Amino acid sequence: MQTHILGYPRIGSNRELKKACEQYWTGKTDLNHLLETGKIIKNNHWKLQQEAGIDLIPCNDFSYYDQVLDMTLTVGAIPERYRQLAVQKQETDLYFAMARGFQQEGLDITAMEMTKWFDTNYHYIVPEFQKDQEFSLFSDKIIQEFINAKETGIRAKPVIIGPVTYLLLGKEKEGGFDKLDLIRNLLPVYLQILKELENHGAEYIQFDEPFLALDLSGKAKEAYGFVYAEIRKQFPNLKFIVATYFEGLKDNLSLAAALPVNMLHIDLVRCPEQLDKALNTIPETLSLSLGIVDGRNIWKNDFEKSLSFIEKAVRKIGSERVFIAPSCSLLHAPSDLDLEKNEDILSAEIKQWMAFAKQKVHEIVILKKLASENPDYNTLQQFAENKKALENRRISTLIHNQDVKDRVDVTTDEDAKRSSPFKARKKSQQDILQLPLFPTTTIGSFPQTKEVRNWRAKFKKGKLNAEQYDALLKQETERTIRWQEEIGIDVLVHGEFERNDMVEYFGEQLAGFAFTQNGWVQSYGSRCVKPPVIYGDVHRPAPMTVYWSEYAQSLTKKWVKGMLTGPVTILQWSFVRDDQPRSLTCKQIALAIRDEVTDLERAGIRIIQIDEPAIREGLPLRAAEWQNYLRWAVEAFRISASGVEDATQIHTHMCYSEFNDIIQNIADMDADVITIECSRSQMELLNAFADFKYPNEIGPGVYDIHSPRVPSKEEMVELLKKAQAVIPAEQLWVNPDCGLKTRHWEETEKALIAMVAASKEMSEVFAL
Ligand code: GLN
Ligand code: ZN
Repeated sequence: MQTHILGYPRIGSNRELKKACEQYWTGKTDLNHLLETGKIIKNNHWKLQQEAGIDLIPCNDFSYYDQVLDMTLTVGAIPERYRQLAVQKQETDLYFAMARGFQQEGLDITAMEMTKWFDTNYHYIVPEFQKDQEFSLFSDKIIQEFINAKETGIRAKPVIIGPVTYLLLGKEKEGGFDKLDLIRNLLPVYLQILKELENHGAEYIQFDEPFLALDLSGKAKEAYGFVYAEIRKQFPNLKFIVATYFEGLKDNLSLAAALPVNMLHIDLVRCPEQLDKALNTIPETLSLSLGIVDGRNIWKNDFEKSLSFIEKAVRKIGSERVFIAPSCSLLHAPSDLDLEKNEDILSAEIKQWMAFAKQKVHEIVILKKLASENPDYNTLQQFAENKKALENRRISTLIHNQDVKDRVDVTTDEDAKRSSPFKARKKSQQDILQLPLFPTTTIGSFPQTKEVRNWRAKFKKGKLNAEQYDALLKQETERTIRWQEEIGIDVLVHGEFERNDMVEYFGEQLAGFAFTQNGWVQSYGSRCVKPPVIYGDVHRPAPMTVYWSEYAQSLTKKWVKGMLTGPVTILQWSFVRDDQPRSLTCKQIALAIRDEVTDLERAGIRIIQIDEPAIREGLPLRAAEWQNYLRWAVEAFRISASGVEDATQIHTHMCYSEFNDIIQNIADMDADVITIECSRSQMELLNAFADFKYPNEIGPGVYDIHSPRVPSKEEMVELLKKAQAVIPAEQLWVNPDCGLKTRHWEETEKALIAMVAASKEMSEVFAL
């Protein structure tokens, strides 16, 4: 039996890579400094795995920005607009230009697109393909990393994105072809890479093929059969691993098992039920890698349970054919739990339930030892400790709250329903709210200036006391309210100056959440996030936002919108419990938000927005699971929103996403008003709502807040006319695409003044 790691986090346990990249980009340091930092990180991680006793240690899992972009550079799929840079620049600078765009030396080249890596919060750079796309070996990064590892005494296992997955990750930039048609052009480059790796002494090669665990077209299936047969033909002696993760192989099992490779990796955390079938299906020539340590979460492994998987596999196929591994790359887990030393943030009791990447590496090795004939005393001791920690977690009073469980049990369908249908609600709301046609509003946050962030930092460090901090925030809030009144916005917001992050702010006030000091996970490039940890039953000990909403409303006669983050988004952007279904955790959060909604109503807030930007990204990878997810996700939103009277208006907000395929479910959320990101697609997104005859009110964003560009009134009028052509005027709101947190006041002021003018013009035109 052997162990291997699919990939290790690359950002560094103190985010060294982030810092080195950003310093290089701003010209503070030179390329050598960056490359040196990368080298140190790689060496540390190789050494860490070697000392832990991992048998197959990966290389080429490291990346300065993104592993898909690495592959794009490796196979020379450099889009036309970078050709000049490709000739003139160093490889690293070309690479960062492709990732981040290039606005220098009189050039203005847009960055390549970025999108989510399957259902994770990691974003990759989307390869761009032309009809006659050619590939050639451009960057030899993978070879160099293999050589570097060899120099440290490690015969590493190069990790390479499999050819079919690489193509499927990309985007056709012109019509008239299917990206999978490019497989014959692409294959020779892969063969060339393999040749070089073989010449340098590589033994194992890991192909990441996560698409094998997704719904596949016939063409994709054929491509799999074709490429791996070709690869095998040319390299009878290399040992190939095909790694799948994030889902079960399911209907693709026989396809995967028939590939002429040496090892198949399956994700037994996401899909434990696939083990039996896999054991019964794989031929004798194939080893099985058991992905049993969760690479996507921060909980300690359940050794007892994992051992039962291992033993079952060993019994069936023999220990030589069994490998032990994390479920997927550890890229999605934070680096090192040992760095969490502040017990005020993360108590010792909770910490003992957790494992980050470094700890997971050790878990894999311990599991191997435990599964061996004669585990030593030390190993048995570790087993006993693991059992104890898990037992403690099972019964901890920190986790289990009977009141919360009881409340979930008595929650009924009625709790997920407003008292009256939308039509009746609309009337009651209009009687009270008295809003004009094309009412204007914003999505919630106003610019978080340096000063505001500075106050928060000082407050956290104790350099400002609570009263001082509070006074400053009040001043900023009042200024924002006055300014909105002055320019004539109809529904005001308080600005969210008291919030750091839309999930963290609520997590900090809800029971059942913990935070880490250093639990960073790469989101894209140098950007990292530190997700909260939901460890226990969630409830709301005290009101969370009433203070600020009430204060803001007290300043003005206009309506101020209360601002909350929805249950699905809170769930989606946190590390969640693995001891109960996500749907149950979501319901608990929904009930907590519901309490906040009703408290806001009681405090006189008549319009309440519950943001759900993450509802679509929560969609399962397999279409067969969609409806189940959407059922509980929509129900959770409704539970959070349905505790109020007809006359209280509930808004929701979602960022840019395809709505066509889930429009029915969005309608089922039954928010009185939905605001969506729309301007970049020139209102095209609205067609989904129009075709569907979306019944409730809708605010299609009329300008893109992701850029400092100030839109003109005319432009916004144009967009509103487009919107009004497909949606009745009585249903339309006027607002930006998203929150204004990342913008500066200067452009925000101009843009919103123009937006109010655009709404006015629409009303005048409409009155004629
Ligand atoms: N209310 C939030 C804000 O304005 C919404 C952010 C989001 O949609 N991501 O910042
Ligand atoms: Zn948004």
